[in-house]
Amino acid sequence: MRTVGRTDIGKVRDENEDAYLADEQTLVVADGMGGYEAGGTAARLAISEVEKHLYKPLKRARSNIAAAFVAANNAVRKAGVDLGYSQMGTTLTLALVQGDIAWIGHVGDSRAYLLCEGSLRRLTNDHSLVGELVRQGKLNPEEARVHPRRNVITQAIGSRERVKPDIFSIALQPGDRLILCTDGLTTGVDDDQIAALASPENSPDEAADNLIRAAKKAGGADNITVVIGDQDEKAPVKRGYRFMVPIVVVAAAVLGLATADYALSQNYYLSSVNGRVAINRGLPGGAAGYRFGRLEKLTAIRVRDLPGYFQKRLERRMVVGGDATLAKTMRDIERMAVRR
Ligand code: CA
Repeated sequence: MRTVGRTDIGKVRDENEDAYLADEQTLVVADGMGGYEAGGTAARLAISEVEKHLYKPLKRARSNIAAAFVAANNAVRKAGVDLGYSQMGTTLTLALVQGDIAWIGHVGDSRAYLLCEGSLRRLTNDHSLVGELVRQGKLNPEEARVHPRRNVITQAIGSRERVKPDIFSIALQPGDRLILCTDGLTTGVDDDQIAALASPENSPDEAADNLIRAAKKAGGADNITVVIGDQDEKAPVKRGYRFMVPIVVVAAAVLGLATADYALSQNYYLSSVNGRVAINRGLPGGAAGYRFGRLEKLTAIRVRDLPGYFQKRLERRMVVGGDATLAKTMRDIERMAVRR
């Protein structure tokens, strides 16, 4: 599958609390909430847990997705306690593509769409107050889109002890396009516009750019994230597990480290040290008998070369998640630093 992802801070917020993942088999969006640094941390942690659990061998896609949602929920809840964020949560919507099947996992009010032969089908139900009212026939989708309480969501990763994701599969045809997005897109841009702006004559890159531009033109009141995947003309069946279990897993098991603490030791956070971007392992602060945070690497990237909002994030220390998320974040940072 050919995939692209874009995220944009929008025109009003001074933080981007969305996160995404786009690789040849997986599309994920997460829309963090909780204000300050909590939302972005929740979104990145959730995606990091997806990366760890989605490709575990020997299990079926459905149970791997269920495990990923449980792990994401536990990680966000634990980080909320450790970092002292009481209202920390995130939406999580993913598509895992195996041959001509796409598995969808979903919690919250981000969305997955399927664009098939020019018609757009919404695959997910919004777990939101207005989403429920639409399903009960008490609001129409247009009323829901501008409703003053449209931000009230009924289910999020991290908000409750148990999470109940919607998990289902759909069949894909060659040429089908999957679109995952956060509500920063769908609040400003309706389904007809999405179908037109993301139509197949546009490449995935062009489609993603069109959608982000339209959401900003509509006000850009929220962070906007779009991930697009095009089903190949010939789709080989792939059984993934690209994320090898690192040898340290065995070591940790031998040492008898508690699983949750171990999982968090696999996380990285970024900070500013001597005016440069520093990569640290663990979680900043360290609470509840947990103190894994340590400097892993001081990079050559100067903090003052980065955008102001990002500098603030680094000052507050920015949790990024696991190895793959770290690599992606560092590429983003390098791009931002060069651009200025
Ligand atoms: Ca949002």
